[in-house]
Amino acid sequence: VELREIGEFGLIARIRDRIGVLASQVYKGIGDDAAVSFLSPGMDLISTVDLLVEDVHFNRSLTCARDLGRKSLAVNLSDLAAMGGTPRFALISLAVPAETSVEFIDEFLSGFLEMGGNHGVSLIGGDTSCSPDRLFISVTLLGEGKREKLVYRDGARPGDDLYVTGTLGDSLLGLHLARNSSKLPSSQDEEFLLRRHFNPTPRVQEGRILAERSLARAMIDISDGLYSDLRHICEESHVGATVWAEQIPLSAAFRAKVPVPSDFQWQWALKGGEDYELLFSASPEKAGEILIQTRAWPCGVTWIGKIEPFSHGVVIRDRQGAVDPAILKGYDHFA
Ligand code: ADP
Ligand code: MG
Repeated sequence: VELREIGEFGLIARIRDRIGVLASQVYKGIGDDAAVSFLSPGMDLISTVDLLVEDVHFNRSLTCARDLGRKSLAVNLSDLAAMGGTPRFALISLAVPAETSVEFIDEFLSGFLEMGGNHGVSLIGGDTSCSPDRLFISVTLLGEGKREKLVYRDGARPGDDLYVTGTLGDSLLGLHLARNSSKLPSSQDEEFLLRRHFNPTPRVQEGRILAERSLARAMIDISDGLYSDLRHICEESHVGATVWAEQIPLSAAFRAKVPVPSDFQWQWALKGGEDYELLFSASPEKAGEILIQTRAWPCGVTWIGKIEPFSHGVVIRDRQGAVDPAILKGYDHFA
């Protein structure tokens, strides 16, 4: 069945039917001119929006609808995690070609609602339009947090330690595998890497713990690559940094599969985008508590370097010395 057969209002009704009972902080969800909801007492509002464009951010021949639904919310959850906030409400704007199948939208929604359910997020509204050929998905995510606990990009100070959650480069390698192989994943390593790209896990709980316990001083989620996103922290905080290339955490699957000699593996991990891990700085005084707090996290946390004075610049060092920044640039939509 194609969307043109059920129409815009048929589609909205379908979406509305998928929502069960309203969350306790929602008075009015889908079905009115606007949604009405409220924050917990004493909390501030955190807002973020992301746009996913077919053939720019995703490829319908490579990703399934369910993964797309999960990921369209996950990328927003990752931004909220990097603030140390708690996600609450989401809105979806869709521009869809009329010949899209209803099953595709149903699967997309299943993925979206599954990811929402994992993180206590309610779908409270959206907007729907047809599109001449490509699919456009924009998700708005609203969350809450205590202003004095939230973590910004501008809080890093010289002397801070730099840490990262999880492992880097898996997502870039997963995309590379998907693009360059027509067969199904043939090993657990390949499956893991594909999952890291097409079905990333936002570090929501981790970000919130780092914020609520005042462990992180500056934080960002890695969507454009470690080097690029570290530079965002450094610009906003007006500091420099040193990262030790050999410290960059790499997964076993990445080490087994990356198509470069082991000396250069960190280069892939450093510029790889869409890791959706958290990069944060912390006062050295917090090192002990960070170790204790993060010990049980399945994703792990790794020390990768230090924050330096501004004049030092952002430097990546390997065994040979400082690395030429020209090889480290991340993704830029207009470059
Ligand atoms: P309006 O014409 O006032 O914009 P719509 O007909 O677009 O109203 O929307 C009707 C209701 O359906 C609203 O509550 C809106 O938030 C919701 N809605 C529309 N599109 C979507 C969507 N893609 N996902 C979730 N809710 C949607
Ligand atoms: Mg509308």
